[in-house]
Amino acid sequence: MTNKNETRTIAGIALLSLAGALATAALLSSCATLFGRPTELVLPNQETAMGIIWGAYGRKEPPPKIYWRTGDSLDCNEHRGFTALTFQGNKCVSGRTVSPISVEVAWVDGQKMSETALAHELWHAALAYQGVVDPLHVTEGWAGTANCGCERASAGIVQKANAELQKVGW
Ligand SMILES: [Zn+2]
Repeated sequence: MTNKNETRTIAGIALLSLAGALATAALLSSCATLFGRPTELVLPNQETAMGIIWGAYGRKEPPPKIYWRTGDSLDCNEHRGFTALTFQGNKCVSGRTVSPISVEVAWVDGQKMSETALAHELWHAALAYQGVVDPLHVTEGWAGTANCGCERASAGIVQKANAELQKVGW
C-alpha cells in the first residue's frame, strides 16, 4: 500500500531521475560538439570499396553505416585521429566500431580508402556479427596489422582487404 507521502517521494525520485537523464544527455551532446561530430559524408568510390571489403570478409549482412571523422572532428595526432572512449580509456584513434551497424573512421583530405581504418573497423563489425569482440586485436584475422597482438607474421584478412583496394587505386 502507498500513502500520499510515499507517492510524493516516488514522484520526486522520478523527477530527479529525469533531471539526471537530461543533464547527462546535455553533457554528452556538448562533448560531441566539443570534439566535432562525425559526418554522413559519402566519399567517392565508397560504396564499391565497402563491397570489396565486406565481400572479402564473406559477410551477407548489410555493411555498417560509415560515419567519417574529418576536419575539426580530428582533434589529435596532428589532426589525423579523434579522441574516443575505448576499452583502455580515452585514446586518440583512427576509427571506432560502435556496433556491427555503425562505425566511425578518420579521413584526412586526400587520403586513399586503403590508408584509412575503414577495412580495420569493418573487420571489427564482421567479428561482431560472429559474436566476437576483440578490441585488442588478438584473434587470427589481425595478423599482419600494426596493432596486432598476435605472433603470426602472415598477412591478416584486413591487410588482404586493403590490398584489394590498392589494386584498383583506392
Ligand atoms: Zn581495432
